[in-house]
Amino acid sequence: MVTREYDIAIIGGGPAGLAAGLYAARARRRALLIEKGVLGGQISLTELVENYPGIPSINGFDLAQAMHKQAESYGLETEYVEVTGIERGNTKWLMRTTGDGFRAKAVIITAGADYNRLGVPGEERLTGRGVSYCATCDAAFFKGQEVAVVGGGDAAMDEGLFAARFASKVTVIHRRDQLRAGRILQERAFANPAMNFVWNTVVTEVLGDEQVSGVRLRNAITGEESTLPVAAVFVFIGQHPNTDFLKGLVPMDAGHHILVDDWMATELPGLYAAGDVRQNSARQVATSVGDAVTAAIAADHYISDSFPD
Ligand SMILES: Cc1cc2nc3c(=O)[nH]c(=O)nc-3n(C[C@H](O)[C@H](O)[C@H](O)COP(=O)(O)OP(=O)(O)OC[C@H]3O[C@@H](n4cnc5c(N)ncnc54)[C@H](O)[C@@H]3O)c2cc1C
Repeated sequence: MVTREYDIAIIGGGPAGLAAGLYAARARRRALLIEKGVLGGQISLTELVENYPGIPSINGFDLAQAMHKQAESYGLETEYVEVTGIERGNTKWLMRTTGDGFRAKAVIITAGADYNRLGVPGEERLTGRGVSYCATCDAAFFKGQEVAVVGGGDAAMDEGLFAARFASKVTVIHRRDQLRAGRILQERAFANPAMNFVWNTVVTEVLGDEQVSGVRLRNAITGEESTLPVAAVFVFIGQHPNTDFLKGLVPMDAGHHILVDDWMATELPGLYAAGDVRQNSARQVATSVGDAVTAAIAADHYISDSFPD
């Protein structure tokens, strides 16, 4: 059931959604932000953001709260439900959610991305019992114990360094022979005495009954198998865009990222996509915010053109 009508609805309350909300509300559009989980999206799990221009260092959750407060001060409304599908009516968009439905003249999709799973035996069963996708959230539970981090990108190093504050030893398991993470993070990781690296290796099983007791490994070059005893395994092996609820509606690339033009517009009228959810995003807070500002300005112009008073 549709309960409320808006000018602009924004799906996803990460950095992109919060920035779109600020610009939409500040343009004096009636704007709704719809978030299924925690405001801030991926950044809410990030210990420190040190590359957002003008802010030398800030906790990700605090940055998201500040963005939300700023947007709310201009009248942005927020609903905590999941959007399960959207469809085009005669001139407006209808959003189905796990709660009430909403209608809007324009929609900005800022649904971002979610982490990939290893897909190995033991992972699902032991999730929350030592298998984690957020060291910032869970590393403190493993104080003084040995843990593993899977992956070699920015998130793996960022979260591995955070885990090293608590763990006696952090073993980074990476399927290649070098990291993909940025130079500064690499330098910090290599300089940290608690961090160890196992190269060219994949996890084939997470071991343990009630709790993680170790991981089974396979060397990707020699095929040699081994076991590493650890109390926790933190997984950071990439992400996939949250676009399942849009399949068949809007054109996407092979990786299910939404195709947009320079104004973040999809080929459907009044439908925009910004941030990690779109094709060719640089997947940063600053770029997601920039995309979203572009999309909000474009949506504002679209409403002026398509719904003259
Ligand atoms: C561990 C880690 C560390 C990082 N560190 C940095 C860093 O230091 N600097 C930097 O610039 N970038 C960093 N990044 C990347 C940065 O967090 C992302 O680029 C950014 O958060 C993308 O913003 P977004 O708004 O596009 O998407 P997201 O942050 O993914 O937010 C999307 C939001 O949409 C919501 N959502 C999804 N589907 C629905 C739905 N159907 N209905 C309602 N809500 C929905 C989600 O719950 C989520 O809150 C890091 C990422 C990770 C994982």
